[in-house]
Amino acid sequence: MNNNNQEEQNLSKANFVRNIIIDDVKNNKHNGKVVLRFPPEPNGYLHIGHAKSICLNFGLAKEFHGSCNLRFDDTNPTKEEEEYIESIKNDVQWLGFGLGEKIFYTSDYFEQLYSFALQLVKAGKAYVEDLTAEEIREYRGTLKEPGKESPYRNRSIEENIDLLEKMKNGDFEDGKHVLRAKIDMASPNINLRDPVLYRIQKAHHHRTGDRWSIYPMYDFAHGQSDSIEGITHSVCTLEFEDHRPLYDWFIEQLGIHHPQQIEFARLNLSYTVMSKRKLLQLVEEKYVEGWDDPRMPTISGLRRRGFTPASIKDFMERIGVAKADSSVDVALLEHCLREDLNKNAPRVMAVLRPLRVVITNYPENQVEELEAENNPEDETAGTRTMPFSKVIYIEQDDFMEDAPKKFFRLSQGREVRLKHAYYVTCNEVIKNENGDIIELQCSYDPATKGGWSDDGRKVKGTLHWVSEQHALKATVRLYDRLFTKANMNKGDFKEFINPDSVEVLENCLLEPSLSTAKAEINYQFLRQGYFCVDSKDSKEGALIFNRSVSLKDSWANQAKK
Ligand code: ATP
Ligand code: MG
Repeated sequence: MNNNNQEEQNLSKANFVRNIIIDDVKNNKHNGKVVLRFPPEPNGYLHIGHAKSICLNFGLAKEFHGSCNLRFDDTNPTKEEEEYIESIKNDVQWLGFGLGEKIFYTSDYFEQLYSFALQLVKAGKAYVEDLTAEEIREYRGTLKEPGKESPYRNRSIEENIDLLEKMKNGDFEDGKHVLRAKIDMASPNINLRDPVLYRIQKAHHHRTGDRWSIYPMYDFAHGQSDSIEGITHSVCTLEFEDHRPLYDWFIEQLGIHHPQQIEFARLNLSYTVMSKRKLLQLVEEKYVEGWDDPRMPTISGLRRRGFTPASIKDFMERIGVAKADSSVDVALLEHCLREDLNKNAPRVMAVLRPLRVVITNYPENQVEELEAENNPEDETAGTRTMPFSKVIYIEQDDFMEDAPKKFFRLSQGREVRLKHAYYVTCNEVIKNENGDIIELQCSYDPATKGGWSDDGRKVKGTLHWVSEQHALKATVRLYDRLFTKANMNKGDFKEFINPDSVEVLENCLLEPSLSTAKAEINYQFLRQGYFCVDSKDSKEGALIFNRSVSLKDSWANQAKK
């Protein structure tokens, strides 16, 4: 790569987090090391927002020859499930990032975190609280008013140690006590008003079993876990900016390694809900068929829909990383997929709403194997053959009776090109007793093989088609957006669910080469969009294809205006 290209590439990747790391490496801060992490809570499947954080953290680790830990933030015993852990590992790998030698779990640090808590108690910096959750809330004050100190705040260190150990040993019922940091009830930053560090929860944990009766709060576990792992740059989303002073306080009191926290704006997408809580609701209330429903903005849903890792990474590069919250048009994500597939997806023919066409002057039992290019955008893609015969199918809406002049497809007495095949003219329309068109009788011109005429005669329309006796039957699902509203900040998001987010077409006919189609390999169905085999529901003999994305590019059109 020459310098210019290198510069261009780096420029496209430029973002403020990367710039901080470049400076730190240059100045040998953290001994020049780059250790990052991606710390999901295993309480749901990852979504496209998480993909932004994954691409940023794993991407930077790769670029700077550092490492990125996948750490499961599993401090909440009641909400976490093994299924989520497996799905998260899969998603990270599918995006193209290695998991490293080891997977990290916050629960591996429970012992260490407890001794940090004890250290704070012994230093008079934490105390056991008797107030109820509600009372704690009342005492906390508001943004305008300072909080009030708890009557239990000044317990002796000995008493605190004793109570904390009893909490740990399971001597108290859930909710009887919590452990709080002793910081400042009058702080303008509410996070510093004696936050809770530990709660009693007699619950089974997926990794530590029944060993613990107390569990650390996220705010206490997170920064210390980063510190234990020697994280150099703790990259997180903006809502943690106000928590940073608290994390700094813990680190200073404990005198341990200090990771540098950097906040960036989370990804918001139009027509999309992004919180795991809302996505769980869609799954549990059966608005979709699961976390990996092809309409879901989860990584597994996008994958099943036909999105590629390259398109998702391209999208992340284009939106960049900023410090201010904003919403990105989902059409840009779709545009990135089209760009990728336009270059890479083989072209094939599929008739979604078939109309029978008999070519009256074509020999009865003849089959011709016609050559068809696989991808005009890719010279190396080569060609395949497609069988042509007397009875074929075209798309119902490629024919119109009494068509206006501007209709460039098929109509009585008009001639069109069948892609890679012949020119055909429609001579007769056959209808059933209800007056529905059920068949067209056409004639072909044998001199136009391949779809070209030597006499300079031109046709306006080119149609796709499949041969009746060779066609594969398939079900095709056409997806639309799951929501009808771009911005769902106000109101209940469920009011905006699109009732027509999927249209299922049962009797589609595909060219025979698609018999070897595999999930996650996209094809361009000519004139229809990009499609791939559904990885879950499709079976041999009962093929199901999903439309990944249509050909119409609303983002490119907007960008041109
Ligand atoms: P949600 O709010 O969607 O439930 P979360 O933040 O609770 O997500 P975590 O499992 O805690 O989910 O997230 C793991 C990491 O992914 C965090 O570091 C978080 O900052 C990051 N992340 C989550 N959502 C987004 C987003 N929309 N854009 C960028 N990063 C995100
Ligand atoms: Mg979270």
